[in-house]
Amino acid sequence: MNTLLLNETVEPENKRDTHIKTSWIWNYWDEEIQEVKGENRLVMICKVIDSFSQTSCGKTYIKSKGSTGNAISHLRNSHDISKDGDQVC
Ligand SMILES: [Zn+2]
Repeated sequence: MNTLLLNETVEPENKRDTHIKTSWIWNYWDEEIQEVKGENRLVMICKVIDSFSQTSCGKTYIKSKGSTGNAISHLRNSHDISKDGDQVC
């Protein structure tokens, strides 16, 4: 009965809460230290190039627990970029 083991490569799509994979967003974001209200904070900066103006987006979020979620929403809403492909149809 070893044949079943050969197909055990299914990805656990449902385990999103505890171990969400967000490394893909770093194709589109840079990390940088910026001064925010007099304090040096780690921020993330959107580096997606706008196809019309040919300039980088520059949207900035202060890095925190929720910032990757904001970053994902921003990519999706502003640039039509999602994890599974560059362009969302
Ligand atoms: Zn952006």
